[in-house]
Amino acid sequence: MSDPRAHIMPVYAPPSEVFVRGEGVRLYTEEGAEYLDFIAGIAVNALGHSHPKLVEALTEQGKKLWHLSNMFRVPAGEQLADKICARTFADRVFFTNSGTEAVECALKAARKYHWSKGDEERIEFVTFTGAFHGRSLGAINAGGNPKYLEGFGPPIEGFTQIEWGDHDALDTAVTDKTAAVFVEPVQGEGGVRAMPEECLTGLRKLCDERGALLIYDEIQCGMGRTGQLFAFEWAENAQPDIMCLAKGIGGGFPLGACLMTEEVGLPMQPGSHGSTYGGNPLAMAVGNAVWDIISDEAFLAEVRRVSGTVAQGLKSLADSHPDKVESVTGKGLLTGLKLKAAPKPVQNACREKNLLVGVAGANVLRLAPPLIISDEDVREAVGVIDQALSEWEMES
Ligand SMILES: *Cc1c(COP(=O)(O)O)cnc(C)c1O
Repeated sequence: MSDPRAHIMPVYAPPSEVFVRGEGVRLYTEEGAEYLDFIAGIAVNALGHSHPKLVEALTEQGKKLWHLSNMFRVPAGEQLADKICARTFADRVFFTNSGTEAVECALKAARKYHWSKGDEERIEFVTFTGAFHGRSLGAINAGGNPKYLEGFGPPIEGFTQIEWGDHDALDTAVTDKTAAVFVEPVQGEGGVRAMPEECLTGLRKLCDERGALLIYDEIQCGMGRTGQLFAFEWAENAQPDIMCLAKGIGGGFPLGACLMTEEVGLPMQPGSHGSTYGGNPLAMAVGNAVWDIISDEAFLAEVRRVSGTVAQGLKSLADSHPDKVESVTGKGLLTGLKLKAAPKPVQNACREKNLLVGVAGANVLRLAPPLIISDEDVREAVGVIDQALSEWEMES
């Protein structure tokens, strides 16, 4: 039989399971096998699968109007932008279809802001090792991962990457050429690494002193994932000038957003930027439904509560497998176990036991479950990981 994947560009290597249906935190194959989903489309299905409010928003809109382009007004987008700006530092929102597009908008807006003030030399972005910002040319240059840059031409001018945690390097790197410091408050792909809260506060202060902007990539760690609506809210006085969102903000529908203050957004005027699909009626219908649920304080309080159960469970795994587990990492429901060897075999073993988890960075088994998980789901997942770790014949 021919390979059914023969014509798919093989940049991914998925396992053989085929999922055809999802409900809440569970996924089902055609044969009816049930899986517990603790990766949620990589922190995307924040409200689980087939959430009734999201299904309703999408299908109702689907019967009315799908697409206009931004030649015409989309009232649901105006409403969502109002809600976002009422709740955040931001005054302006640009809607995109993905994270990498939100990153492109952020990079362009930061440079244009300084340029509009006559500061044409301020084009540099200071980023951190372990960063991941997406796969466009701009985003791979911002991410700085040599594996993702290889073969795609010369590096784009204006990106300086410093070692995560190297305060001296940071102090040297932020100069009068710096357009912005660009950081994930909790790194996802780079190994589920949370920047200490006082460092975010320090970054804000440093940027203010040097006239640089502060940009957060909260594409993975935002939208309630850490138990605050945005991960930077754990820190005091750490508001950004620009913030990128995607993943959870669409709950599974392709949606991203780039938020900025009025001052920073001022030079972004007709013709400065655009997207054919960004902010389309389908995405905006779903986006409003997701926002209304996740931005609710009671919902976030429940995320914080269940995060405690996850943290406890992971700690118990670290305690009972000290030979295999290095540490517990991450924040809230973007978390994981740093293992002492490559985590792929453990991920595969979990899947064979009907639990879906991810991997990240160096040796991290990553958990990013839907935000609606129960204590019971957590106990089940921890039990499976416990078994998988016990059976794991770690190669050292
Ligand atoms: C996933 C991700 C991106 C890229 O988003 P896409 O929707 O895949 O383009 C950028 N930054 C972070 C932190 C991410 O997790």
